[in-house]
Amino acid sequence: MFDVAIVGAGIAGLICAQRLQHRGYQVVVLEKSRGLGGRMATRRLQGTWADHGIRCVEDQGKFSQALVETLLEQGVTHLWTDTLHRLDSGKLTESDRHPRYVAADGITTIAKFLASGLEIWRDQRVQAIASMPESAWNLTLESATLEKKNVTAKSLVLAIPAPQAALLIEPFAEQMPTLLAAVQSVEFAPCITAIAAYAPKPQSQMTEIPWRAIAGSEASDLAWIGLETTKHLDPSQSELTPVIVAQSSAQFAERYLEAADLQTVGQQLLATVQGLLPWLSPPEVLQVHRWRYGFVTKPIADTCLSTNQPLPLVCSGDWCGGNQIENALQSGWAAAEQMAILMQKLGIFGGDRSEDFADLLRALSFSYRQP
Ligand SMILES: Cc1cc2nc3c(=O)[nH]c(=O)nc-3n(C[C@H](O)[C@H](O)[C@H](O)COP(=O)(O)OP(=O)(O)OC[C@H]3O[C@@H](n4cnc5c(N)ncnc54)[C@H](O)[C@@H]3O)c2cc1C
Repeated sequence: MFDVAIVGAGIAGLICAQRLQHRGYQVVVLEKSRGLGGRMATRRLQGTWADHGIRCVEDQGKFSQALVETLLEQGVTHLWTDTLHRLDSGKLTESDRHPRYVAADGITTIAKFLASGLEIWRDQRVQAIASMPESAWNLTLESATLEKKNVTAKSLVLAIPAPQAALLIEPFAEQMPTLLAAVQSVEFAPCITAIAAYAPKPQSQMTEIPWRAIAGSEASDLAWIGLETTKHLDPSQSELTPVIVAQSSAQFAERYLEAADLQTVGQQLLATVQGLLPWLSPPEVLQVHRWRYGFVTKPIADTCLSTNQPLPLVCSGDWCGGNQIENALQSGWAAAEQMAILMQKLGIFGGDRSEDFADLLRALSFSYRQP
């Protein structure tokens, strides 16, 4: 029996778990994938890698600023670029200028940093939740091999996209109608990502590429193109095998989300890249990933949602307050604070370690460095 079960090892779930664990609660994180980080995702391919979800980290507010500073101090991230290009009607221009940071071994290194010291059960999809008479949640888990097991906890945090949270809490509609209505009001847009690896090219040719990242215009099918190999700490080696990530607009993803032939969809996304760098194509490897819940388009105003009926439950994620890393961090933090209040009301006390977000990150830096 854990004090808190946290569903989802994305940024929000990891921050919430760390905060509660630091307050002295016994915490377990349940994650359906084998990897950590959720939409903070890195795909390994051809001896290299590509960030196919979050593109980079940047200062978006108080929480992300503290994270960026700590990650830089710890050598987890480095500056990637301070120039974003924009593609409008075939014309490439320099658009906004501010520093963007990446990790030398892929953006999931940041998730690994945030996960240090936590008990995380991977490859465990929470299929259903039930409240037991002995005042505990019972979670039914399923792994990729269809093996089933259960876990019990006194309280529960759902740090997953709102539509996935809604499925789990729908059976409790009578006990938590307001919370369920708020969760159901949230809307997400999908995104399709194409990851393309090309045949090695001479370094001179690669360094002539004037951009590292391009944002598409509102109306276009493309939202983002990233030259992934420039994210490496020593691009002189990696640039020889170019890897490009192309991410679709929401409209494009809505059109092709259920397409049976994703390779053709990926090629369509890469057509713009082909126009910009005709000497690069065709890709040697093309992988396509569907983000069904990619970007929040209609968030709620609160930083988390909570109830103690029938038992303590808190919902968290970027959709609580916005649609970016800053919101996920803030929501994870707020969810932990709210859960501590709910548990104290029930007489379940952790230690009383008051700390702010920067203190928590400093403590994580220490455990991250421990073997
Ligand atoms: C293509 C793309 C690019 C983006 N680029 C940026 C960017 O550059 N900058 C930025 O600020 N934001 C970006 N975002 C948004 C950013 O990714 C999110 O705001 C943030 O990652 C959300 O974190 P989260 O913890 O709320 O949710 P998630 O990252 O979605 O984490 C939820 C986790 O829960 C797990 N899960 C779900 N259901 C279950 C279940 N039933 N049982 C167990 N586990 C479950 C999932 O596997 C996942 O790991 C991007 C998003 C996409 C899709």
